[in-house]
Amino acid sequence: MMNCKEIVIIGGGPGGYEIAAGAASRGASVTLVTAGPLGGTCLNEGCIPTKCLCHSAEQAQTLKDFGFPLPEDFFAKASARKNEVVSQLQKGIEMLLKNVKIVYGRASFIDSHSIAVRLLRPEGFGNAFFSEETGEVVELKADVFVIATGSVSASLAIPGADLDGVLSSGELLRIDQVPKSLAIVGGGVIGLEFACVFATLGCEVSIIEYCKELLPRFDSDLAKRMKQSLSKRGIKVFTSAELRSISPAEQQGLRLEYLQKGKTDSLVAEKVLMAVGRRPNFSELCLENASVQAERRGIVVNEFMQTSQPNIYAIGDVTGGIMLAHAASAHGKIALEHICSGSATEINLSQIPAAVFTVPELACVGLTEDECKAQAIDYKAVKSFYRANGKALAMEASEGLCKILAQKESGKILGCHIMGAHASDLISEVTAVMHFAGKLSDLEQIIHTHPTLSEILVSNL
Ligand code: FAD
Repeated sequence: MMNCKEIVIIGGGPGGYEIAAGAASRGASVTLVTAGPLGGTCLNEGCIPTKCLCHSAEQAQTLKDFGFPLPEDFFAKASARKNEVVSQLQKGIEMLLKNVKIVYGRASFIDSHSIAVRLLRPEGFGNAFFSEETGEVVELKADVFVIATGSVSASLAIPGADLDGVLSSGELLRIDQVPKSLAIVGGGVIGLEFACVFATLGCEVSIIEYCKELLPRFDSDLAKRMKQSLSKRGIKVFTSAELRSISPAEQQGLRLEYLQKGKTDSLVAEKVLMAVGRRPNFSELCLENASVQAERRGIVVNEFMQTSQPNIYAIGDVTGGIMLAHAASAHGKIALEHICSGSATEINLSQIPAAVFTVPELACVGLTEDECKAQAIDYKAVKSFYRANGKALAMEASEGLCKILAQKESGKILGCHIMGAHASDLISEVTAVMHFAGKLSDLEQIIHTHPTLSEILVSNL
């Protein structure tokens, strides 16, 4: 039973456009206000364009493995294909939103039931999207608002962070030539994905990471193995290294000065990718006018994604926490159910899988081994290796392992961590078993096709 007639969604990313389509299909009158292109960060500057490049890098690797040189226009063609994919998916979103009114503009709250929108004139799509303010401001009123304004790239407050050649991930996706060398500041998910793509395309890549390990939030066992794997691929990794400054290098490029183990050192690179995380994007929204509470890490929400103002919900990256497209979609489902029926869904936000599209891939769900130890859980870890799997050997993908963590006595699965080919797909099976509070014995009884990588999940149970 729909409790409201008018819903305004602010932000056209995966959180915003999916809830907009869902609310319209449940009979609400929906307006989507967005300052950027449909699909948000995910489609235009995030998940999809990067995965297109990851795929092209894989093809480049195959060519190299067979001893073929890369065609001169390889990167130009890869970029063109990426843009085609984005454009195709954007048309799909337009179709999905056929019953939603779309307004291009920048929203800010007037009060808890109305927003002011500075209208924009949109041009282009994907990375080539740009817009100008028309000078017109409209006021929109609604029973319910959903804030889905996402996040923006963070930077470091160090000298030289704003020099030409220091790029955000969105800017790196717009370059038209592979640089000779790339220094990546930040060894998180975004940094490592770009590292693998550009290293495969012939660029000299270095990574400077402040923490002791790469991928600080991942299982440290796998993160260590990933560091070794990247080093084997010729990527230079400096961990426990604090970037102090960036300056123009003597000849050309940029010099990055960093402190590691008490010693100052430096390296030179043609381009620098600043990949030090993302911060929730709400500064323009005038949340105080609507009494919506926010902290530095994001807009504060309850289990229904409701803010401190009950008719205003917030979903996706803007709430801080796990900044992933499927988390934003899940938030949207939770919010929509609460808006429409006042009830909860069965979605479990403590089981959001995550993947890193490096070579090899990494994927995880649930607790890490370090978390099991910190929580004094009596657990066991079951490990199985890609090198013992027939399909992996057939695919020349013998590097990697799967680690499943389970309660020692009951066998209830607590987490799974996979490094290896197609880890991002394999993790879904364990996520499904965990959703139903499954045990190792449940996983073991599922029949797996042979020969497939999925057999790795059960080969040592
Ligand atoms: P967004 O997608 O950021 O959308 C927010 C929208 O709100 C934007 O269109 C913006 O223009 C609009 N907006 C902002 N302010 C206003 C305003 N005042 N008025 C109106 N509109 C406004 N996630 C994955 O799950 N898998 C991946 O492989 C992956 N890869 C990534 C790679 C990169 C390089 C990056 C940067 C991110 C990646 N992500 C990935 C993260 C993913 O893109 C985000 O988690 C996801 O886009 C968040 O969705 P959202 O709806 O919360 O916000």
